[in-house]
Amino acid sequence: MKTRQGFVSNSSSSSFICCLSGHMESGMDLSKSEAGMVECENGHTFLEKYQISRKEMTVTEWREWYTAWCKKYEWRECYLTDLEKTDKEFMDFIEDEMKYEFEEDGIDPTQCPVCTFTDLPYEDVAKFFLAQLGITRKEFALTMKEQFGDYTAFYTYIKDKIK
Ligand SMILES: [Zn+2]
Repeated sequence: MKTRQGFVSNSSSSSFICCLSGHMESGMDLSKSEAGMVECENGHTFLEKYQISRKEMTVTEWREWYTAWCKKYEWRECYLTDLEKTDKEFMDFIEDEMKYEFEEDGIDPTQCPVCTFTDLPYEDVAKFFLAQLGITRKEFALTMKEQFGDYTAFYTYIKDKIK
């Protein structure tokens, strides 16, 4: 459970950048959710609006999900006792307690636009094409210099092409 201290003696600046839009939020002691962002288990951070909504899961499906979550690490297996709760207690527990886990450990990759290949950050796209071309970033820069001559001409080209 996260709590806020009445006085803040060790506040720190934090910032979050959406890997898809480049949108940034920053502030003192800003949490990811306060910034309107979520992170997946694989470390992709993005604005909430890009999160793929989990289809309305039944209690049985949530129990299966929770069982898999507990069995992912040996130290979590003690939490399997939460499955003994009644359906109502269990769903309240998921809603009230597990959201802190999602904030800490990240959401499931099935809800991540990157992990599901719904969209990809420019960085991943660029790395893929450099790999396809079999050249380094510096080598690519040199070919752009040869093709466009100056940076303004190059930037005008990509700015108008990419939507
Ligand atoms: Zn992801």
